Amino acid sequence: MQCPRCHNTNLQHLYKVNGQYYCRECISFHRVYVKQERFTKKIQYPLIYHHYQLDFELSRQQKKISQKLVENYQQKKNSLVLAVCGSGKTEIVYEVICYALSQGQRVCFCIPRKELVKELYERICQSFSHTVIGVLYGGYQQNLDAQFIICTMHQLYKFENDIGFDLMIADEVDAFPFYQNRVLNEIFTRCCLGNYIKLSATFASEDIQGEELLFMNRRYHGYDLPVPQMILSPSFLQKLILVLLILFMHKKIIVYVPTVAIVYQLVHTLRSIVDIEGVSSHHPHNQKTIQELKEGKIQVIVSTTLLERGMTVEDVQVIVYHGEHVLFDERTLIQIAGRVGRKPDFPTGKVYILTSERTKGITQCIKTIRRLNQMNV
Ligand SMILES: [Zn+2]
Repeated sequence: MQCPRCHNTNLQHLYKVNGQYYCRECISFHRVYVKQERFTKKIQYPLIYHHYQLDFELSRQQKKISQKLVENYQQKKNSLVLAVCGSGKTEIVYEVICYALSQGQRVCFCIPRKELVKELYERICQSFSHTVIGVLYGGYQQNLDAQFIICTMHQLYKFENDIGFDLMIADEVDAFPFYQNRVLNEIFTRCCLGNYIKLSATFASEDIQGEELLFMNRRYHGYDLPVPQMILSPSFLQKLILVLLILFMHKKIIVYVPTVAIVYQLVHTLRSIVDIEGVSSHHPHNQKTIQELKEGKIQVIVSTTLLERGMTVEDVQVIVYHGEHVLFDERTLIQIAGRVGRKPDFPTGKVYILTSERTKGITQCIKTIRRLNQMNV
């Protein structure tokens, strides 16, 4: 006996109710019965011409990939886009979304976290001002029946036994909680009745499953990605070097640290030297703190890896503190380095990794970024 959704076969997690077994392992996504037939269905929406507008022009590389995604979709092929941080990957799927909608097909754009859904929804609504768009995240839903849906991966289960999607776009597939999460991945597959496009900033070769791989290695503004500089130093000296770097750079800085305890500790120690605040899952005013950094009201934020993705601060520099920690693997470090130089007005910047040893994560991260910079796609 096996759960049709999460493939759990552990009988202790399969419970019987009214003569039918259901799965407890993935119960948080609604009850699913072992013998339950799947009835995700396709429907044809009216053929209406959909279009979008952007107030800037796509770069040459963005145009090329955008076109390729339409071709792949027409040929019923799945695509995987490896797009470096700041390359503008959201806009490259607009064309294929328009194509599918205009064919009367149903489209879903999903992303792991709720804050990102809200941001994405607002952005896409501006571009697709004539299209009705449904939006769902934990605690909120609107226009569930719309032809075009934007949601978190967690909310996809609502479409599992309902109207599925012809085109599914998943952003940040390398991020928590989607990455290597069997249940969420299975739900994604069950909702996808046609083809998918997965977007990511960091792909490992084990993530590729027969899709066509497309590279977007150039940032929108055309500058190289900043290559991190490793500073090898014994643990007890790292704090001193950190202080010197902060004083020397005299710019907006995000210091990434491995634990919440270190956030508190550093903020406490450095408060007398510099305007500094902490950000972590334990700090209640994260958004406000980030805003203060953006506005230059504070100079330094000390953060856990909570902020590794999706945050854009103009002209910011980054320092990784205790880079030898296991949390700082290749993916995380690439994301962290990607915070720097995102804006066309400040396309470069510094990324320092303070570490007591040369870890595999650090060496791989530097190697990958160099390779991406040299790649000629
Ligand atoms: Zn299950």
